[in-house]
Amino acid sequence: MPTIKFLGAAQTVTGSCHLLCFGRDRFLLDCGQFQGPWHIEKRNYEPIGVYPATLSGVILSHGHLDHCGRIPLLARLGFDGPVYCTPPTKDISMLILMDSAHLLKEEFLWKKRRLERVGIEAKEPLYSAEDVWYCHDNFSRPVDYGERVRISERLDLTFHPTDAGHVLGSSQVYLEYRPKRGRPLKILFSGDLGDGGRPVVNDPTPPEKGVDVLIMESTYGDRMHRSYEDSVAEFREEVMRTIKKKGTVLIPTFALERAQEILYHLGQMKREGLLSRHIPVFLNSPLAINITRVFQKHCNYCDKEVIDEIRRKRSPFIFPGLQLTETAEESRMIHSVPSPKIVLAGSGMITGGRIKHHLKHNLWKDNTTVIIVGYQASNTLGRQLVNGAKTVKIFGEEIKVRARIVTINGFSAHADKGHLLRYAKAVSPKKIFLVHGEPETQRHLKRSLNGVLPRTEVVIPEFKSEHPLAP
Ligand SMILES: [Zn+2]
Repeated sequence: MPTIKFLGAAQTVTGSCHLLCFGRDRFLLDCGQFQGPWHIEKRNYEPIGVYPATLSGVILSHGHLDHCGRIPLLARLGFDGPVYCTPPTKDISMLILMDSAHLLKEEFLWKKRRLERVGIEAKEPLYSAEDVWYCHDNFSRPVDYGERVRISERLDLTFHPTDAGHVLGSSQVYLEYRPKRGRPLKILFSGDLGDGGRPVVNDPTPPEKGVDVLIMESTYGDRMHRSYEDSVAEFREEVMRTIKKKGTVLIPTFALERAQEILYHLGQMKREGLLSRHIPVFLNSPLAINITRVFQKHCNYCDKEVIDEIRRKRSPFIFPGLQLTETAEESRMIHSVPSPKIVLAGSGMITGGRIKHHLKHNLWKDNTTVIIVGYQASNTLGRQLVNGAKTVKIFGEEIKVRARIVTINGFSAHADKGHLLRYAKAVSPKKIFLVHGEPETQRHLKRSLNGVLPRTEVVIPEFKSEHPLAP
């Protein structure tokens, strides 16, 4: 009997990795990194839970690190099968993994210096840039949306049918297994789902009914988001208010999707004359710059608003006043540019990256506005600002927070409770496994699902637990 084993993103939101066993054919759905507190991150260094050389392939839902971040490790441990993903995901995951290899190396060198002094050996990085390069070039197998591919004698894969509406290239994975006897088993993995209604990424489309088993994300299974239109209106208002005061707008941005979406909206404001062409906008993140190039290359996979801009022979992401700053020296020069100005920089949760330097230079000024457009995990500098900290410590220095801190939560790339319930109802499967969510959130969503789908069994699997795939 086919089985599924949850090797990550089980009662947590990172490390997405699920082992599907169809007899001797074994596939991983995603193989992502665990991120967050150390008790979660240390799982990256533990055995994956499957002997990589026995895998027939990996099916990658999208390019976020918590979904693709351990694929080079698999290759290092003997995996040599294909990695199925959409063409944008192939390009995005290469950039994300290269960046990750670089960060892993930096972290290793830093730890090594500290630990050597107390006689402890630091753990080698999970993988190197060379591993990423080797595994990516050899194993990536692009599959377009809607294309049906036979990935083993009895198993067909389709990235179904447009996208998951989460980030560029994100897909819902549809699998059809034909056993020797009996009817086919239909499995759907939602990947990470978006809310829809956004200008850059396509709206998610629920597939037809008749699915037996749904493996569904549940990140925001207990809350509703503010509407996207209201969020964009609030964003515009805050930007204009600060520019009028001749202040600085700082936007901590995730390099994938959020940065491109914010660029799109700032570009629209420039085109509509709300923002002068001369106001400088700095995109101060090499990774976000490279990913924006991938968006430009694959813009035919974007939503109609972006495609319309291209038809008008305008770039949706490039506009007058935009400056792409890649080097550390260029980054430092931004501090000497007089306000008004707008700066987008990583990291999205202010756990590192160049945004910390910009905050150090501007947080104590009362004409600065920090616009938070993404999720801020607990124990991050971003969360401290959201919670109204009066002072924060940056690079060991106590900085007074005089800036205006604005949180806009409607930009989330994850579907809220309402969308998840509608999605599950549209699929109406016999069984649902909830993944990619915190336990409390999952229990809340399970209760709501039991209400709308009383005949569907809803399971919250534990980490490393194995379950039959039959309904
Ligand atoms: Zn994601």
